[in-house]
Amino acid sequence: MPGLYDDQNIFAKILRGEIPNDTVLETEHTLAFNDIQPQAPVHVLVIPKGPYLNNDHFSAEATDAEIADFARSTAQVVAQLGLSPSNGGPGYRVISNAGSDGVQEVPHYHLHILGGRRLGRMLS
Ligand code: 5GP
Repeated sequence: MPGLYDDQNIFAKILRGEIPNDTVLETEHTLAFNDIQPQAPVHVLVIPKGPYLNNDHFSAEATDAEIADFARSTAQVVAQLGLSPSNGGPGYRVISNAGSDGVQEVPHYHLHILGGRRLGRMLS
């Protein structure tokens, strides 16, 4: 699916250093940074550094190393912020929007980590 990826999207520009970001964590394959328009006291975006559109594209095309790094980096951000219920933290939510029905704004795969307050039920 390489032709589907638009390297002019805003996260590609962040990855190339053309736009600044407020980095929370950076590894070989993953970058996590604060959302510019936070929807909760904690609102961190986690993105793979590779050119992937969404969760299904990433899962199909990324290497095992990229996938493992992404999963562990997401957990590391949660731990860093003290949110993990497994360690007595208050909890959090992870969301990934995909495509038009998912109302994905930026066409580079990302997870939203939301927390810092009790979130509303979100099924629509
Ligand atoms: P989506 O709707 O694609 O799941 O979410 C995209 C997210 O990216 C939104 O929450 C939006 O606030 C965030 N965002 C858009 N542009 C920028 C930017 O330039 N910097 C940062 N840090 N976040 C951005």
